Amino acid sequence: MKKILRSIIFSLILFFMATTGNAADNTQIYYNVSFPEAQAHYADIEMTINGLKQDELELKMPVWTPGSYLVREFARNIETLSASANGKPLAANKIRKNIWKLNTAGIGTVVVKYRVYAFEISVRTSFIDASHAFLSSPDMFIYPGNMLHSPATIHINPYKGWTTVSTSLEKVNGDAFTRHSPDFDILFDSPIEIGTQDVFDFEASGVHYEVCMVGGGNYENDRLKKDMASIVEQETAIYGENPNKHYTFIVHNALKGGGGLEHLSSTTLGASRDAYDTKPGYENFLSLAAHEHFHLWNVKRLRPIALGPFDYDNENYTTNLWIAEGFTAYYQDIIVHRTQLYPTDNYLGVLAEDINQLENSEGAKVQTLAESSYDAWIKAYRPNENSGNTTISYYTKGAIIALLLDLEIINDSQAKYSLDDVMKYMYNEYYKVQKRGYTDAEFKAGVEKFAGKNLDDFYAKYINGLTPVDYNHYLGFAGYKLTDELASSNDAALGIATIPNIQRVVVTAVARNSAAWISGINVNDEIIEIDGEPVSDATKLINGKKPGKQINVTVIRDGINMDIPVTLLKSTKVKYKIEELPNPTAEQLTVRKKWLTLK
Ligand SMILES: [Zn+2]
Repeated sequence: MKKILRSIIFSLILFFMATTGNAADNTQIYYNVSFPEAQAHYADIEMTINGLKQDELELKMPVWTPGSYLVREFARNIETLSASANGKPLAANKIRKNIWKLNTAGIGTVVVKYRVYAFEISVRTSFIDASHAFLSSPDMFIYPGNMLHSPATIHINPYKGWTTVSTSLEKVNGDAFTRHSPDFDILFDSPIEIGTQDVFDFEASGVHYEVCMVGGGNYENDRLKKDMASIVEQETAIYGENPNKHYTFIVHNALKGGGGLEHLSSTTLGASRDAYDTKPGYENFLSLAAHEHFHLWNVKRLRPIALGPFDYDNENYTTNLWIAEGFTAYYQDIIVHRTQLYPTDNYLGVLAEDINQLENSEGAKVQTLAESSYDAWIKAYRPNENSGNTTISYYTKGAIIALLLDLEIINDSQAKYSLDDVMKYMYNEYYKVQKRGYTDAEFKAGVEKFAGKNLDDFYAKYINGLTPVDYNHYLGFAGYKLTDELASSNDAALGIATIPNIQRVVVTAVARNSAAWISGINVNDEIIEIDGEPVSDATKLINGKKPGKQINVTVIRDGINMDIPVTLLKSTKVKYKIEELPNPTAEQLTVRKKWLTLK
């Protein structure tokens, strides 16, 4: 369809909706989005609100994007906001960082125009250039503060050469460039991709899936269709239903891409465009797709009580991101395992990596799992040079907790139940029956229901406490154990991290209680000599020296050379792998079979 014709149709829709309206809520909200300067990363937005019957109108911009727990202050990217009514200017006074107030006494229709700058490449922020626009709705659409439940219509006027719109929002009268959102929670959960993307589709679990590939790449459509469909089917089988009619994967392929953000009926994924033909690259992509798609149940519908309805003006605190994210991280890998694309040893290796990450983290001795969730807003999303010493990832430890609980439930129930049953029960009970989020106590009760035992002690140790995880107790249920490949090593360590891939040694982190920590080597120090010998390669600093050895480290700190005497300490690094116990019992093999869904 040509652009002019589309605009005429949009005008007709505006007219039709303005004259019909619905009796309960006579307000209609329309956005006309255009890109006269896409090459300079701008969108121009005209918002029309019809049917107003209020003396004052507050226009708001969300301060954060659901799923990404950081206040990002999206209003800072807005320029030249102006309002008018009946063809005359109407004052729009800013009364807070993200709120504009308009006097609308006696005014039925208001038109608001503003520009948005969008140049942050991520799955949770908008990005516009001459090749495409990715609109992450919360940082793009100002909304009338008291109308979150109102529907909105969005019309896209594409930049030259852009041919395709990909979003889970419904088309209006079959026009791909005009979309309808039933309310703002759905609009803010529906990113929109516009450009010349490669789109392919597949059917799985009775749902139509669209995959929108931006930025090219060495992917194979047919292979992805088959493997992504398999992931969809495995995940749908856990919950017993797939609540969508259609679902959109928006994939941003970049030189080095990663990360994803979940939505109700779509997701945005970051991928490396040339990694699809490598085993780790392809496995990472499938695992990411499985993660974000699993969220359509876990967090988008089955959710902690604090995460919806959202407060778009403030932080939304929850101690349950270890369930929302950690359990999803657990399932992303076990789901890929269930597709049988890779052998079981591959999956056990992935689990061991999670365990190594947690056990090599000093933060595991400082921050509990519940705290890491609650403080995501100020810690996980705002890391600094000391984060490794003070925080843990609720993804990693949450995935480990999911593993322990899965094994506990399977063992306690003689392989009748697994964590899958908890997820399905909680989804039915809280999303479908009670239609609300769960509390901490309700999720715990859901797990206890299938484990058949009280989990006070488990929660006290591992969720709200800092007790080291007894891995072998749980892995033993399935006839496995952890083995540390570095147990007999007597290597020394300095305990620093450095800027990678440069011919200088610049410290970026110092591990708590390490030799560097005790002797006072600091972040930003450049190490130039050890025992008088020049150094430029961070991987060769210690060069086989053993624990107890005294060395002299020469650094440049703020332009001044300093000598720091250091006594090397034994490396505390662990490198676990998961191994089979010799002579597993019939009970252990039964648990293993259920856990890994072995035929
Ligand atoms: Zn996630």
